[in-house]
Amino acid sequence: MENLKIIGGGLAGCEAAWQAAASGIDVELYEMRPEKQTGAHQTGGLAELVCSNSFGTILPDRAGGVLKQEVKRLGSLLLACAEAAAIPAGSALAVDRAGFSSLITKHLMSHPLIHVVRQEITRLPEGVCIIASGPLTSPALSKELVSLLGEDYLFFFDAIAPIVSAESINMEIAFKASRFNRDTSDTGDYINCPFTKGQYYDFINALCDGQRISLKDFEKPINSGVKAGDPNFFEGCLPVEILAQRGQDALAFGPMRPIGLIDPNTGKRPFAVLQLRQDNFAGSLYNMVGFQTNLTFSEQKRIFRMIPGLENAQIVRYGQMHRNTYIAAPKLLKPTLEAHSRQGLFFAGQITGIEGYMGNIASGLLAGINAARYIKKQPLLELPSSTLLGALCRYITHAAMKDFQPTKANFGILPDTTRLFKNKKERASFLAERSLAELEDYLDKVGHL
Ligand SMILES: Cc1cc2nc3c(=O)[nH]c(=O)nc-3n(C[C@H](O)[C@H](O)[C@H](O)COP(=O)(O)OP(=O)(O)OC[C@H]3O[C@@H](n4cnc5c(N)ncnc54)[C@H](O)[C@@H]3O)c2cc1C
Repeated sequence: MENLKIIGGGLAGCEAAWQAAASGIDVELYEMRPEKQTGAHQTGGLAELVCSNSFGTILPDRAGGVLKQEVKRLGSLLLACAEAAAIPAGSALAVDRAGFSSLITKHLMSHPLIHVVRQEITRLPEGVCIIASGPLTSPALSKELVSLLGEDYLFFFDAIAPIVSAESINMEIAFKASRFNRDTSDTGDYINCPFTKGQYYDFINALCDGQRISLKDFEKPINSGVKAGDPNFFEGCLPVEILAQRGQDALAFGPMRPIGLIDPNTGKRPFAVLQLRQDNFAGSLYNMVGFQTNLTFSEQKRIFRMIPGLENAQIVRYGQMHRNTYIAAPKLLKPTLEAHSRQGLFFAGQITGIEGYMGNIASGLLAGINAARYIKKQPLLELPSSTLLGALCRYITHAAMKDFQPTKANFGILPDTTRLFKNKKERASFLAERSLAELEDYLDKVGHL
């Protein structure tokens, strides 16, 4: 029987290796560390946690808790090791990171069907393969992926602008309009925050002096502009504070240009404008257009409240920029995690656009099972979208490319229900129970125990 090659001995790759080996498949697991480091990992251990030691909530009516139960039901090795290495953390699952990694390393190294090879992969191997090289995929492999997938289908950075709640915007100062009145709605598509000359320069000075999140070596290109996320939005994007530093008027001629806008309160064109674009159907959230930033969260709160109309803004998601290699999964992957373009080629982990430790483990689990099923010529599993893992796979493969951002497990990606609930807790319990029941039904139907 053909063997399976897995690139990356991180969270997704290790889980995938275990699942495939558990169903009798010979696995070669390639990990470049300790020979070659990523810049964030510190050791040569398999499944090293790069940052926090927490896998998030274990509460059964939270999305993170439900995902854990699904992954447990599917027989995850990494979740079992996390539970074995757990340390007290209230309602979260936190681990002793060294203990967690060494347990997994021991399990994989001693499995007769798993061969761990310490080598950087720079060319895609022939045959059945899972790419699980993570958000810090080595530059040589990234280059190979660009030549395989096309330049527009691999992103290297996340650039996220802050989102504010609509109800916290002061509409006595801000006004609705599109440039040159090119609106699709009667009331104006954008909310505009108008600056006078004095307000603008005070704001620019605060931006330039604001405290930034310090960049690691592998994030340094952010300072000179990076290609991040969907090319329509983020081609060559720079943090707003770096743009401000390049010249006092750079923003007034860039994302804050006032051209085509008249402030109804003054009847004049403002000196500069921050535009806010609607971010959800309900119109309760607005995105700060062109304001990707690397300021610390507390500085974002302080400085962005200097924007006229945002004096009391509630930031519901802070801006961020960081290295994150991920593919355009909506164009490239099926919900089975197999590539459209090549049978037997699977992707797993953060490189698919699934965020968070547990989501990465879960996607590795499904890719490992499916790669093994592919080799054994069995139909691949496509989990129901009412399960959290199924919904994550569906989200990354069906999202509109224009809006595609890496995402973690949340109830918002599950199909809605017409049932009425007394409160949020009751709704969450219903979604949680439905996920687990439908997972059980599905596994029963396909005969996967
Ligand atoms: C700096 C940083 C901090 C993060 N912090 C958190 C956090 O606190 N909580 C959270 O939930 N998520 C966090 N994430 C997101 C994500 O959950 C983790 O990165 C997670 O480890 C991803 O799992 P993975 O298996 O996809 O990749 P990884 O766990 O990174 O595994 C990929 C492996 O592939 C190896 N590799 C790369 N290229 C090659 C190659 N060419 N050949 C062979 N091997 C290769 C790497 O050495 C690595 O071991 C963070 C991400 C980053 C970048």
